[in-house]
This record gives sequence, structure tokens and C-alpha cells, in this order.
Amino acid sequence: MMTKKILITEIIDYLEELFPNADCELNYSKDYELLLAVMMSAQTTDVRVNMVTAILFKKYPNLESLANADIEDIMAIIKPIGTYKKKSQNIIDIANKLLKEQNGIVPQDREYLESLPGVGRKTTNVILSILYKEPVLAVDTHVSRVSVRLGLVNKKDDVLTIEKKLTKLIPKDKINKLHHQLIFFGRYHCKARNPECQKCKLINICKDDIRKPFLH
Ligand code: SF4
Repeated sequence: MMTKKILITEIIDYLEELFPNADCELNYSKDYELLLAVMMSAQTTDVRVNMVTAILFKKYPNLESLANADIEDIMAIIKPIGTYKKKSQNIIDIANKLLKEQNGIVPQDREYLESLPGVGRKTTNVILSILYKEPVLAVDTHVSRVSVRLGLVNKKDDVLTIEKKLTKLIPKDKINKLHHQLIFFGRYHCKARNPECQKCKLINICKDDIRKPFLH
């Protein structure tokens, strides 16, 4: 029987073959823009977030302008991403807090980041991973689904358990990139509905019955 260590090596090799350049798909040019973009990405797609941040960050090019922005204007700009009222208030509040409490810096401080409005463990992990290269990964719907299908975690595991199990299993020097590769794999290949099992090289280690019609 294949151990999880061998399994993860096989998965890493295949995802490297499929997505050698996997990276964050949110557009940003400043650290705080990444933080705001990740916060805004809850319950929507990166494509939609990029559409609104292209307008938002051009009109409000620094934290000072965001902190003093008219919330009605922010709401009008980010309306397409949903839950825009809450997210608009979060944008203004985060800008104010970073200016007053951190001199405008996004700090490498989990406790502080998680205390910001609209910022939870998932957003914090993305920030610590991308900005500070900490060996952490954020478990979203794609990472979770793919990890269950490949037998790396159990179906009943909650998000924190999945994060802990994956962090223990994945070599530290691979975790940042593999995080993006797992998202790409779930987003474009091992999709929730109609995954592309017929061309998936992991079909023999996959545990999901959805692959059965494609087994030889
Ligand atoms: S065989 Fe299908 S369900 Fe299994 S990992 Fe590959 S694409 Fe996903």
C-alpha cells in the first residue's frame, strides 16, 4: 500500500508537470492591496475581484485615500463581488487600522492580521505565505475537495484539521507553490462537477467514486 509520503511526492510531481508556473491569480502591486483583494475574494472568484480592484486601486492609489474614501463610492465600485456593503466597510476600516497601528505596513503577525475586520485564518495564511514565505497554506474549497479525493485527508475533517494534516505531510520547501497548484488543479482539472478524470494521471491513487467510469 502506498504511504502518504509517497503519495504526496507523486502528487507534487504531477502538479508540477501540469502547473509549473502556478501562482496567486489576484492582481496587486502593494502588500496592502493583496490583503484587501484576498479579503474581498470571500464567496466570489479571483476574476471578479480583479475586475473591481482594477478600478478601486486606480481611483484610490494609497492607504490614505482608501481610509478617507466615501463608502458609497467604494460600494458602487465593488458591488459585482457580492457582500459588498460589509466588504466596503472592511476596506475603509483596514486602511485606517494599518495607517494608525502599523505605519501602513502589513505586518508578519498572525494575531494582528486575524484581528482585522473580514480577515480570518484563510486570508492570514495567504498573506503569510505570499508576502512572508511562511510554510503555511490556506484551505479553500478546491484544496479541500482535491485533498479528500486523493485520500490525503478524510471527508469529515474540518478546515483546520485539513490544514494541519497537509502542513505536516507536505515538505516545507514545497508548501507555498503546492498551495497554488492544488487550487489550480481543483479550479481547472479536478473540478467539483465533471472533473477531467479521463486524462488525470492520479486516477489510480484517487479515492473518489466519480473516477470509476474512466478506470481501465
Ligand atoms: S481522477 Fe478525477 S476526481 Fe480523481 S484526482 Fe483525478 S480528476 Fe480528480
